[in-house]
Amino acid sequence: MTNGSDEYISREFPALGTINGIYIYGSGRAETLDEAQQRVTFLESRLSVFREGSDIWRLNRAAGKKPVEVSGETLALLKAAKEYGRLSSGAFAATIRPLTALWNVTRPGAEVPDAEAIDDTKELVRDDDLMLDEASSTAFLKRPGQSVDLGGIAKGYIADEVKKIIDKNGVRSAIIDLGGNIVAVGTRPDGGPWQIGIQTPADVRGSYIGSVCVSDETVVTSGVNERFFMKDGVCYHHIIDPRSGYPASSGLLSVTIVGRSSMDADALTTAVFVLGIEKGAELLKSQHADAVFATNEHKIFVTEGMKDRFVIKAEKQNVNGGI
Ligand code: AMP
Ligand code: MG
Repeated sequence: MTNGSDEYISREFPALGTINGIYIYGSGRAETLDEAQQRVTFLESRLSVFREGSDIWRLNRAAGKKPVEVSGETLALLKAAKEYGRLSSGAFAATIRPLTALWNVTRPGAEVPDAEAIDDTKELVRDDDLMLDEASSTAFLKRPGQSVDLGGIAKGYIADEVKKIIDKNGVRSAIIDLGGNIVAVGTRPDGGPWQIGIQTPADVRGSYIGSVCVSDETVVTSGVNERFFMKDGVCYHHIIDPRSGYPASSGLLSVTIVGRSSMDADALTTAVFVLGIEKGAELLKSQHADAVFATNEHKIFVTEGMKDRFVIKAEKQNVNGGI
């Protein structure tokens, strides 16, 4: 990204299973960075599936037994996740955790699970079994073995929360980067739009297929990133199609959404990655969202609204616009 100014303060820190960066341009205060970082780690302690005692950890442990009390914020995020499950006809699933745990693609020596285990586990993924009760602020998974994983939506939600803190502190120019989930706050210090690179799928960080100019917008990508293993020439990655129980193979390598809400963009990119380009484009249209798609045939497609905004990097690639 280009910033147009040398004066900035920044904070880089590990959280959410990734490295996060917050960059404030102009005359920022370290207290703003402290507050932002604290918000990220606090939300991680509530939402992480791995963190002992988190709302999601307790919910999963109590599956099939009893409802658990969760924060109003967690409840709202669970509700939003369920809603994206509905909008995407089940391509996005809040209750995906039994499958992501079975595949566990990032563990050393990861293998393809037995077909039978995949079939059995798939049956546990059912968002209708996630009961939310606002009056008592409780959540409940009906069946033992069921579990929730908010990995497809939480980073976006948290990025929106960090933006609120940055805005509240009067910052006019900042970049929030939660492991590639970007929110560009305001404009560059020189008043121009931010230029955000869209990462080349399955490539090293810092390699881009192109870029888009944004101000007060989010840029979120889902796809084959560093979380995958290879077996017999097949790439088994971290986004699972709840309908097949296998890593999604919709012909896409990545989907990038540019929009206002990072939470919405986060959930939508995951859903569209599972749905593929045609059904995904329909869903995006219904949500008035714009995207850049990279296919496994190394083609790039953009939605109508991105045609004039996306700038391709490599000349050898073709942009197939206007879907
Ligand atoms: P993202 O990078 O936002 O697409 O999120 C991918 C993460 O979301 C994975 O690492 C899982 O934690 C979770 N996930 C995988 N498949 C799904 C799915 N079909 N629906 C919802 N979340 C998913
Ligand atoms: Mg996502």
